[in-house]
Amino acid sequence: MSNPYAILFEPVQIGPVTAPNRFYQVPHCNGMGYAFPSGLAAMRGIKAEGGWGVVCTEETEIHYTSDLSPSLEGRMWEDSDIPAMAKMVAAVHEHSGLAGIELVYSGQHARNHFTRAVAFGVDSFSVPEYFPAQTRMADKEDLRALRRWHRNAALRAKQAGFEIITCYAGHTLSIAMFMLLKRFNQRTDEYGGSLENRTRLLRELLEDTHEAVGDTCAVALRLAVDELLGPEGLTHDGEGTEIVAMLAEMPDLWDVNVSNWSNDSGPSRFMKEGYQEKYISFVKGLTSKPVVGVGRYTSPEAMVSVIERGVMDLIGSARPSIADPFLPHKIKEGRVEDIRECIGCNICASADNKNIPIRCTQNPTMGEEWRRSWHPERIPAKRSKKSVLVVGAGPAGLECARALGQRGYEVTVTEAEREPGGRVIREAELPGLSEWRRVVDWRLTQIEKLPNVTIYPGSKMSAADVLESGLGDVIIATGCSWRRDGAGRTLLAPIPGWEGEQVYSPDDLMAGILPIGKVLVYDDDHYYMGSLLAELLAGNGCQVTLVTPGHSVSAWSDYTLEQAHIIRKLRHLGVEMRTHSLLTQIEQDRTQVQHEYQSEPVWLDADAVVLVTNRIPNDELYRELKPGMALEKLDSLRVIGDAEAPNIIANAVFSGHLAAQEFDEVVDPDVPNFRRERVGF
Ligand code: ADP
Ligand code: SF4
Repeated sequence: MSNPYAILFEPVQIGPVTAPNRFYQVPHCNGMGYAFPSGLAAMRGIKAEGGWGVVCTEETEIHYTSDLSPSLEGRMWEDSDIPAMAKMVAAVHEHSGLAGIELVYSGQHARNHFTRAVAFGVDSFSVPEYFPAQTRMADKEDLRALRRWHRNAALRAKQAGFEIITCYAGHTLSIAMFMLLKRFNQRTDEYGGSLENRTRLLRELLEDTHEAVGDTCAVALRLAVDELLGPEGLTHDGEGTEIVAMLAEMPDLWDVNVSNWSNDSGPSRFMKEGYQEKYISFVKGLTSKPVVGVGRYTSPEAMVSVIERGVMDLIGSARPSIADPFLPHKIKEGRVEDIRECIGCNICASADNKNIPIRCTQNPTMGEEWRRSWHPERIPAKRSKKSVLVVGAGPAGLECARALGQRGYEVTVTEAEREPGGRVIREAELPGLSEWRRVVDWRLTQIEKLPNVTIYPGSKMSAADVLESGLGDVIIATGCSWRRDGAGRTLLAPIPGWEGEQVYSPDDLMAGILPIGKVLVYDDDHYYMGSLLAELLAGNGCQVTLVTPGHSVSAWSDYTLEQAHIIRKLRHLGVEMRTHSLLTQIEQDRTQVQHEYQSEPVWLDADAVVLVTNRIPNDELYRELKPGMALEKLDSLRVIGDAEAPNIIANAVFSGHLAAQEFDEVVDPDVPNFRRERVGF
């Protein structure tokens, strides 16, 4: 039978070049950029190896006055930047992919913290992050210089071997896009006023790029066609359409999406597969050029559908290509069940936002391709005939067992609960998180195929059970539990009154034990759990107040691009939010809350309190067995995941994978267990 997804493997002509198939890894940041060229090249190369026909860079600065530091992005400031970029191109070409580069002059988005240069922008506007610095307003000489720099960067990109050069007007991050937007562009010269004038710079950049490199390179335009701000911003059925109509045949490829980044990389908690279609589907009707769009597509049926319905010509992807660099090959080989589907958690984005190398919840090898020589599909074979016992089948235990099994070891997994999956299956029941189940589903599907790995659910292990099992190599992955006493990041001691019957932990709520009436959720965890429980309770008819010592609600979720969506959602549900506030006393019907900057506490009525603070590792089993090691009853013992130290799910998966990779290997604890890039030394 022919492959039902064959259409996805048709070549696509893009200007003077041909993409080998319809899988297009759109530009995406990764926290490596100019600082980690070898790591970056290895990561991009593996995507090409996995079948992505086009593999692009992250945003690449064209000039030192557009320095995005401390963010680690690409740099094409001068000729000496070419070799680092060429390294990535070579890695992509090695696997017959096309390499694309996204050129940016950021304008007011550039902080220039490293160069200390002054950036110019559409006007004199503030740079990001509440830093009290502004751009200067670009005059015509500046704009002529900008065109020269852009052209030079395109020529350098061509020299580095790139086949697709992207002019960038996306994410409300580049001067070309700021020029388009009425609320930023108040200029009175030929770059301001009418839409035609506001589009002038973008048109010029497209023309310049065509003229400079268009003989052999395709020129793409990455444009956000809607900012999801309503009439305040660009809309797809307003000026978005007019801009596309105006520039319709100018680029060789339209790469279209929505802005800003938190909308483009919409978290799965709020946006589902294909969520951008309604905004971008008009584009193909206005141009004869190919169109690429994104929408966290992981299902080949959905991909075929958007091609057949004429929504787009190429399936754009950042996150699905991060979670599974081999997604195209798996579809081609009819191994759809092997796709490691992105869960839309945006931990990948958080790494870029924290200026550290990319990581992924689903794919523990992401960002580790060069420094640890990890590969998403291959792993070194076993070194011995040892059999391993893994206790606990949460994300850490399952990934460890799967990877050990892939290496060829005999693995026994015991799990106390009837269903494997640990925290993931509990958390996936919370509002919007159903896709997170994929972390468990993918691992169980893979383990099912491994005859050497057996899972025994409903098997709670004691230390005696472990020692009696006869298995000498033991990995403990027993997870953690939420604290019940409210001690945490801000208040180190238990909160007075925590023993009351009306006080709940997240574990209670996830077990279906739900309070009613007026509920105070105290969030000293600062990621997703506090807001999710508030959402759950409000949805159940409770009157919810979210109290947090944080300076904003769910503060850490800003890095995963979720915070704005969370706050909007809680507002919509009528949840009262109090920041900078400590929960200092719990009584039967009321709670005492102390604002950080006010001298007197307030008393709030509350029938129930939910404490979302620290967690306690479930490491009793490990601690009991450790003396057993001393008595030489076991050959090896290791604790991983949340049982070692509570963390995010991505870390549990990573921890499990690391333990499997290091099992039976000689590891020197005195030096790093990875290579480092020290460029220039
Ligand atoms: P992690 O994120 O580190 O994988 P989880 O809490 O998600 O941690 O998973 C730990 C799993 O270990 C849970 O499913 C839990 O039921 C299981 N578990 C805990 N203690 C034992 C034990 N003594 N024997 C077997 N399974 C256990
Ligand atoms: Fe998807 Fe999460 Fe991996 Fe990012 S970190 S690619 S959102 S699974």
